[in-house]
Amino acid sequence: MTLSHFIGGEEVAGSSGRQQDVFNPATGAATTAVPLASGAEVDAAVAAAKAALPAWSATPPAKRAQVMFNFRDRLRDNLDELATQISAQHGKTFDDAKGEVARGLEVVEFACGIPHLLKGEYSPQVAGNVDSFSMRQPVGVVAGITPFNFPAMVPMWMFPMALACGNTFVLKPSERDPGAPMMLARLLAEAGLPEGCFNVVHGDKEAVDALLDNPDVGAISFVGSTAIGKYIYSRGCANGKRVQALCGAKNHMIIMPDADMTQAVDAAMGAAYGSAGERCMAISAVLAVGDDTADRFVEQLAPKVRALKIGQYDEPGVEMGPVITAEAKARIEGYIDQGEKDGAEVVVDGRGLKLQGYEDGFFVGGTLLDRVTPDMSCYRDEIFGPVLSVLRPQSYEEARQLVIDHEYGNGTAIFTRDGDAARDFATNVNVGMVGVNVPIPVPVAYHSFGGWKASMFGDHSIHGMEGVRFYTKLKTVTARWPSGIKEGAVFNFTAGSEVK
Ligand code: NAD
Repeated sequence: MTLSHFIGGEEVAGSSGRQQDVFNPATGAATTAVPLASGAEVDAAVAAAKAALPAWSATPPAKRAQVMFNFRDRLRDNLDELATQISAQHGKTFDDAKGEVARGLEVVEFACGIPHLLKGEYSPQVAGNVDSFSMRQPVGVVAGITPFNFPAMVPMWMFPMALACGNTFVLKPSERDPGAPMMLARLLAEAGLPEGCFNVVHGDKEAVDALLDNPDVGAISFVGSTAIGKYIYSRGCANGKRVQALCGAKNHMIIMPDADMTQAVDAAMGAAYGSAGERCMAISAVLAVGDDTADRFVEQLAPKVRALKIGQYDEPGVEMGPVITAEAKARIEGYIDQGEKDGAEVVVDGRGLKLQGYEDGFFVGGTLLDRVTPDMSCYRDEIFGPVLSVLRPQSYEEARQLVIDHEYGNGTAIFTRDGDAARDFATNVNVGMVGVNVPIPVPVAYHSFGGWKASMFGDHSIHGMEGVRFYTKLKTVTARWPSGIKEGAVFNFTAGSEVK
């Protein structure tokens, strides 16, 4: 069975003649297929969103919020089904998939407060009988282009805010796990969202290019890899659109000699191997300060990595699933090969893992590389798999400099009891999200998510007040009423002349 697009409130079969298999990564079997939209199909979705825009943007924010309240209820009622859908196509464990939906739901709850969030500023009497006020108005049709690793949460970073602000939306989700986004579309419709306000078109570069070039798309939210994000940012901006592109990462965790090692090891386990390392906030490099710290860390972590329970998402006690595709498995194993060739010590080797009953699954075992150096590709590049590299800087300053010098700047963490070091780190690193004894410092929905350096292009982070700013345009009104107008034209532009 092939999935459909969701356009104008209806499921619409793909008509491009192109489609792609969707796999259960645990078995390696194709379970469904996804249509890959042509430019014309994308244009139809944008046209549906454009047609729905006038009525939806004129709907009072409190009524738009009511749809979000209903959507929240629908999400909660369908949590298990949604999580199953995510796990079956992505491979992450069922509990992890439920956690993903819960983090998306937080944004929906934040969006429920939109009447308050859209309140403008008002200044009475900016000059004689003149008042000034500002309002935030929707950008128009917004496109969301999302990655495979959070098929529900990342779209929910975007569309609840965009819709609540009065925009309409076209989502181009990842073609690798498109089932969950389709469920979200159906739940939004059940929540009372008018037809055409939310559309889903599946596809690849052809669909994305059609969104980038469609003059009726006002803004683009992208989350995915840096190479694609750069392309989307430059082409979208060249076409006059507002673009935010949240991209790849290499997140460092500094462990200071005074850190509680048991806590640090537990934190690194979850942050490096949870979701098979396929998180943009995964910890992929540990900077253990001093050889003694590094020795203690590796000694305590290695047996836990060897004992990871790996399997299909619905097996009892499973801690880590497969990676997304056979290509991803080959790429990740290639990085381990190269790290070994470059001189890294492979303390735990996850290559070549075959699970009984899942011999064709895309599994990579948890891998721990020690004595990694900054020139190695396993350190420089985003691997996006269950591979943790340990580096051994000899001082805090050396560790901090590694974080500062790295190409990526999404998240980072420091584990320490030293308040001075933690404060210095948080103040001076050029990274968007910093954790102090928190390994994955993903901001809650009422703060904003976004990296620095090659981890993000564009000015506004996602959700929180940054979301409101990205999805609205500011308008400022200066008003004077006839009783305040003096006779005679004014030609000079000195303060108070136009608004005297
Ligand atoms: P990806 O860049 O391959 O795909 C992202 C989206 O771009 C998908 O919808 C895909 O269809 C589309 N796309 C792919 N190739 C394209 C092309 N040539 N032209 C136009 N569009 C194209 O990313 P992915 O593999 O799905 O996701 C993993 C990446 O996403 C990692 O790099 C990860 O760090 C990043 N990510 C970042 C964040 C963040 O907030 N910074 C969050 C999640 C994931």
